[in-house]
Order: sequence, then C-alpha cells, then structure tokens
Amino acid sequence: MTCFDGWLPLAQRYDSPNFDARPDPADITLLVVHNISLPQGCFGGPHVSDLFSGRIDYNADPSFADLRGLKVSSHFFIRRDGRLIQYVSANDRAWHAGRSCFQGREKCNDFSIGVELEGSDLVPFEVAQYVALAGLTVALRRHYPLTDVQGHQHIAPGRKTDPGACFDWVFYQNLLNKKATEQPALVAAIAGLRVVKGLPQSQ
Ligand SMILES: [Zn+2]
Repeated sequence: MTCFDGWLPLAQRYDSPNFDARPDPADITLLVVHNISLPQGCFGGPHVSDLFSGRIDYNADPSFADLRGLKVSSHFFIRRDGRLIQYVSANDRAWHAGRSCFQGREKCNDFSIGVELEGSDLVPFEVAQYVALAGLTVALRRHYPLTDVQGHQHIAPGRKTDPGACFDWVFYQNLLNKKATEQPALVAAIAGLRVVKGLPQSQ
C-alpha cells in the first residue's frame, strides 16, 4: 500500500523481537491507546523498553515476577516528557492488545497500531504526552487509513482498564481537531521534544 517502512523518523528506535506480520498489511484502521509503567507508578526507568525488547531483568523489582515469559510489545511509547520511542514498524503486528474486540472484530493487533503512554490509571497524563500523541496520530494518518482511536479498556472490557479515567479524551480530540494548518506544528512539536532526548531521566 505504501513504500513507507513503518518507522517514524521522529521516534527514537529501539527494536523489539516481539512482532510478526499482519494478516492484511493494508488493513490498519485502529489506533489503540494504553498506559504502562514499570514498576507500576514509577516513571522514567528503563524497564518498559526492556520488557518490550525482551531484555527485562526480572529481579529488578518483586512485581516483575509476574512478567516472566510474557512476550509483548507496542509500536510506540510516549514518555512523560513527550519523547517518542518506537519498537515495532507500524507495518508489522505488535503484540499489545491481547484478547480484544472492536466493532465485532477480534484480535485487534491484526489491524491496529498500539501506543503506550508512560503512566498509570491513577495519575493524570502530561500535556506533552497529549501533544506527542496528537502529533503521532496526525503523522500516522498520512500513511495509514486510520478511522478510529480506542483505549485498551474499550476493546478489552473487564480485562483491561488502561488508559483509564485519567486520560482526557476531550483534550486529545481537541488537539486533533485543530485546523489543518496547525497540525504540522503538532508534528513539529514531536521533533522539538526530541531535543531533550539526551537529558538524564528522573526516576
Ligand atoms: Zn494496555
């Protein structure tokens, strides 16, 4: 469908082995929003990227014992300061949604792109994360026929709760609804946020 290789140049690339081919590479219509932090509620550490890349040290925290054997990934991860990391080409199938259903279609990984926000169900997300997510959405729409955005909680009700009540869908939607002339600024915002990439991360 496109010569785009599925890797956004604006994102910091961190390859994950946890992916495979989509059953229909042209069928990429859904964006799924998640939250994650490891340990839960702790931001800034390396463990999310380590989990997605299969390098996590299970002994780093007692709660990580539950993660043993888990092979998961996401296409994107948005840090608290808006920095964007990419683990899997959006052309490929990342393993983020698990058992799921959207509009009668199961296996949402087949036809979705997964974005993890660094956070938890209990903590409001940062404005920089909304800006990055909106910019990412705009950028992805240039390459894929995305028609819907859902939370993980919506496609796996009763099983998943993220991104949770702290995620402000209206604020996100308002950013997306900005006039087309303003959208390049959102995409550029991601580029600008990359400048802080080299700063030390706070735990
Ligand atoms: Zn999730």
